Amino acid sequence: MKLENKVAIVTGGSRGIGKAISKRFAGDGARLVVNYRDDADAAGELVDDIRAAGGEAISVQADVSRRPDTDRLCASTLEAFGVIDILVSNAGIIIDRPYIESTDDDWQSAMDTNLRGFFNVTQSVLPHMIDRKYGRIIATGSIINEVADFGGNKYSVCAASKGGIHGMLRPIAAEMARHGITVNSVSPGYIATEMLEEIDAAGVEEALRLVPMRRYGKPDEIAAAMAFLASDDAAYITGQTLRVNGGMSMN
Ligand code: NDP
Repeated sequence: MKLENKVAIVTGGSRGIGKAISKRFAGDGARLVVNYRDDADAAGELVDDIRAAGGEAISVQADVSRRPDTDRLCASTLEAFGVIDILVSNAGIIIDRPYIESTDDDWQSAMDTNLRGFFNVTQSVLPHMIDRKYGRIIATGSIINEVADFGGNKYSVCAASKGGIHGMLRPIAAEMARHGITVNSVSPGYIATEMLEEIDAAGVEEALRLVPMRRYGKPDEIAAAMAFLASDDAAYITGQTLRVNGGMSMN
């Protein structure tokens, strides 16, 4: 098991892609901290499933847009498991709206959860990882930074927030390289989760024409890429983005 005895935090780990990552990591031997913002029942059920399968997991409520919450998330992890080896900064929201109609609220919520969330949780874990001279940080990026025109769906504001993550990633990776910490991202294409239900359905159908494989991705396919980057097989990989999108960004 490639993640045996590792301790991993997965933000937004209670549903969709985050849930698949939590289950995959637990199956690979990691002890899991499943973070969520609102849905305690979903996180609790996932923790029960992981334990029933013989794994170790806890759930911790924390809003990643709030620094005191991400600090508490790390403190709770250290209290439960003593160390933090892996952080998956995955919590995110989507906004599908033409640029000209985008509101201040759209801007604020995308920036707060997607970009500040990554900033907060990464800064919260790093002092511990630097002390231990070991760490794996993986952000969930997005196809919306690879493709400008999806036909129907419009993502300019969200692209700004996710683009901020992609922009910060390599400088952080460069600063952390000498501390034994790798910083990478996995950039998903259209993945079949509840998030897709929040965006224009006709646009989602239209976007499928842009995917050479002509299907949506599965959360497990993102989790597999995350598991690789979290493992020691990826020890010499940092500052990179692994695109998992059925070829959508090739053109
Ligand atoms: P979902 O909407 O299915 O799940 C989102 C998760 O994030 C939930 O666990 C939710 O918890 C949590 N969350 C949301 N806001 C916060 C917050 N402020 N603090 C802590 N947790 C929060 O999303 P997906 O699984 O589809 O997406 C996961 C990631 O993948 C996101 O970063 C998204 O941008 C990215 N992505 C997804 C794509 C897709 O096609 N699905 C495509 C490209 C990127 P709760 O339910 O408790 O609120």
